[in-house]
Amino acid sequence: MEKNKKLLVIEDELAILRFLRASLQESGWEMMEASTGRVGLELAASKKPDVILLDLGLPDGDGIDVLKTLRKWTSAPVIIVSARGEEKDKIKGLDAGADDYLTKPFSVNELKARLRVALRHAEGSPEESPAVYERQGLKIDLVARRIWLKKKEIHLSPLQYKLISVLVRNAGRVVSQLQLAKEVWGGSGEVSPEAIRIAVHELRHKIEPEPVRPKCLKTEPGVGYRLESPDE
Ligand code: CA
Repeated sequence: MEKNKKLLVIEDELAILRFLRASLQESGWEMMEASTGRVGLELAASKKPDVILLDLGLPDGDGIDVLKTLRKWTSAPVIIVSARGEEKDKIKGLDAGADDYLTKPFSVNELKARLRVALRHAEGSPEESPAVYERQGLKIDLVARRIWLKKKEIHLSPLQYKLISVLVRNAGRVVSQLQLAKEVWGGSGEVSPEAIRIAVHELRHKIEPEPVRPKCLKTEPGVGYRLESPDE
């Protein structure tokens, strides 16, 4: 699946570039590197990468501006790479059209999982996303609108069902609070983060055997929520 896929890395930190090179060497990804936003945009236009990794702090400006420019003409998945504690920037990035983010330092496995999800989303249109999600004994069938936990059917409120179906359609990717507010609550998304937190908390009590140690529905502190990728 990752054979001959092109990854563009827009990043000025040599240590990260070295790590990425070593991590992806044998995975079939062809890696292109740009250490400034300007070169990154040039390569994105000329080489047409399948996925773009974008650092937010670039020597010639803000990665968010690079992202906004990219989004004017490409829908290639963009994964933001940023430091811990930059939640505001991550949210800005997601709202500006990024698909996901990785927090430095990240592991090879995290990187590969994010790349797989990004590719899957780029290749399949939304209606082609798998209708059945299965992970750790949780089974969600979006066509039949039925949910099971360890083979026992569970029943959700309409709001909880809406919430889980948005998360299933984005499985493996972070979903920002704003995105959840818009897609689950509708309208201009004027629902408080606290109301979202409570809804997630109640949903966890139905779908997680151990709600305090969730295996599927994870919190991305300050940013949003992520339903982990389904079992392979
Ligand atoms: Ca940087």
